[in-house]
Amino acid sequence: MRVLILILGLFSAVECSSQNDAFFNERRKMVESQLKNRGIGNDLVLDAFLQVPRHEFVLPEYMKWAYTDGPLPINEGQTISQPYIVAYMTEVLELQRTDRVLEIGTGSGYQAAILAQLCDSVYTIELFEELNKSATKVFRKLEYTNIYSKVGDGYLGWPEKAPFDAIIVTCSPSHVPEPLQAQLAEGGRMIIPVVAGYIQKLVLLQKKNGKIRKKDVLPVRFVPMLDEQGEKY
Ligand code: SAH
Repeated sequence: MRVLILILGLFSAVECSSQNDAFFNERRKMVESQLKNRGIGNDLVLDAFLQVPRHEFVLPEYMKWAYTDGPLPINEGQTISQPYIVAYMTEVLELQRTDRVLEIGTGSGYQAAILAQLCDSVYTIELFEELNKSATKVFRKLEYTNIYSKVGDGYLGWPEKAPFDAIIVTCSPSHVPEPLQAQLAEGGRMIIPVVAGYIQKLVLLQKKNGKIRKKDVLPVRFVPMLDEQGEKY
């Protein structure tokens, strides 16, 4: 009897673990070669990438490429970002367990899930209803209880839930939206891809004594930030 209980116990432990899926080995390789080898050093961030099943966030036809080193198409002509970029943007936010984070551009929901592993709560806004719906479905399936999502224009932020300890923007406007700067908490950090001529640059902002300091960190390519008429910001 005791043996049976032990076996059952072992079985359920394995079943609950996120390491028990067909893609775990690919995920481990992704973490080693795409993240660690390129300088992502925060163990908590690396562990989040090991835990979150990226293949659940991509379209079924792209599942076998879920752990490859690049962005992939999702619905509405949008993309799920390259794992390295998701990791880089997450790491520079230097998240604390108690942080409340705002994300603009839910897309597939993958970035939000990574953040949810590392902080208290994630508020995420998506312009397209269809993408909000599919991401919410995955959050529910994976039993996330600290991700709050809504449909809307993220340029305006989420004033009712502000201030945020960190803000991450995953679509690219021509300038840093004023409402997002206002909704950043004292000491808070924001990472955002801002259009700069033909390219975009990731800009890291920090609010100190009520003042915003900016630093350019990396050239990148994101989809544009759009308003509700589909015009670029
Ligand atoms: N973080 C996403 C990346 C999605 S790409 C992921 O992990 O998959 C960027 C997303 O920003 C797209 O889904 C796009 O529809 C959305 N977007 C564009 N303009 C927006 C706006 N003004 N407000 C909210 N979302 C916007």
